[in-house]
Amino acid sequence: MANCAIVGINWGDEGKGRMVDLLTEDYDVVVRFQGGGNAGHTVINELGKFALHLLPSGIFRKGVVNILGNGVALDPQNLWTEMQDVESKGVKLTPENLKISDRASLLLPWHRDLDELEEMRLADKKYGSTKQGIAPFYSDKYQKKTILAGELFYPEELKAHLKDLLEWKNLTLTKVYGAKPYTMEMLDEWIFSYCEKIKPFVCDTGAFLRKAQKDGKSILFEAQLGSLRDLDYGIHPYTTSSNTTAAYAPIGSGLPSAKLNSVVGVVKAYSTCVGEGPFVCEMFGEDADKLREAGFEYGAKTGRPRRVGPIDIVATRYGVEVQAATEIALTKLDVLSYMDKIPVCTQYILAGETTDEFPFPSALKKAEPQIEYFEGWKCDISKIRTWNDLPKAAKDYVIYIEKAIGCPIKYVSVGPERDSIIIR
Ligand code: GDP
Repeated sequence: MANCAIVGINWGDEGKGRMVDLLTEDYDVVVRFQGGGNAGHTVINELGKFALHLLPSGIFRKGVVNILGNGVALDPQNLWTEMQDVESKGVKLTPENLKISDRASLLLPWHRDLDELEEMRLADKKYGSTKQGIAPFYSDKYQKKTILAGELFYPEELKAHLKDLLEWKNLTLTKVYGAKPYTMEMLDEWIFSYCEKIKPFVCDTGAFLRKAQKDGKSILFEAQLGSLRDLDYGIHPYTTSSNTTAAYAPIGSGLPSAKLNSVVGVVKAYSTCVGEGPFVCEMFGEDADKLREAGFEYGAKTGRPRRVGPIDIVATRYGVEVQAATEIALTKLDVLSYMDKIPVCTQYILAGETTDEFPFPSALKKAEPQIEYFEGWKCDISKIRTWNDLPKAAKDYVIYIEKAIGCPIKYVSVGPERDSIIIR
């Protein structure tokens, strides 16, 4: 039996979905343990191209049980829409291959409204939220002002609980933001249209996972976003509202006793960042446009152009450390094939001094990148499947990163398809 977490090392969008899709072959269970429908995992396999938001990326594999753990922001509306979408493309979803934790809190309809209203209030100081209601959801979860998916099985208690929450939340909506209040009829409609649809998949996933552990099953824990978006360890306040680090996987999955045998950290061969906040290695102008186009760097959920830059060794090393990564999957190496010289942010300059340490968030704004250049390889590497066949310049680039971040690079991804991978 093996427990493995797959996590993002950077700002998200590293290609975690693609790696989970590849590695699920060796696992019995895949669990999403945090986050909601605010990001997208792109997966390309024999069934087509999918942008998954909430569904675990093991959903395409026969015999794999997929779990949405108690740590996720369970948005019934988004989930049901996504379930219908993947089913329409030939993926069969049943209570056998998809299980939703009865302890997952539900993202309520007003969370999306509150996200939007707060971003509007912040105007040019906005956080760059995807407006999926994630921050209001997690604040309410920690105030114990959401409902658990398992409450759907107790309709009378559910109604009374929702009524209390409605009264409380309408105060904020109307008095703080001057927005329209919600009514019980609106919530009834939401229960009927979405919650009832996902209810057959809700069960005691904690009990399922404990039995799976006893039976020696292999469990893969799938994260959303990356180290630098972690609520506690990221670029506060431009983080997400949950913990994206592997250490949270046991808690958010429903198997708090789980010990991780390995942590696969996914690192992109260059940097991208969606939304606001300090991004020290950011490139601008024509060079940035070229890289964005080459990597097709547009948000899977929002379509927003991603900010781009060279790989950031300082941030990546920090990301590896907070994740306690045991091995690395380096993705999108093929995207750099057009470059004559490949820029790398090797250190930061802060107050005139160079540093290898990732600074405290308030100091990050003042950090400047120290850029060095590596030889490009200038040829198509997307069909290469073995390490020895990679051009020397590409190998040198990978080996340099490996040494600089202090973690072995086991996988080198050279394309979005399942088999476009070099395993070292
Ligand atoms: P995730 O949220 O971490 O799963 O990442 P996203 O799905 O948002 O972004 C990764 C994007 O890169 C997707 O469009 C993938 O299909 C694509 N991708 C992943 N690995 C590779 C690769 O090695 N090369 C290329 N060219 N694209 C890749």
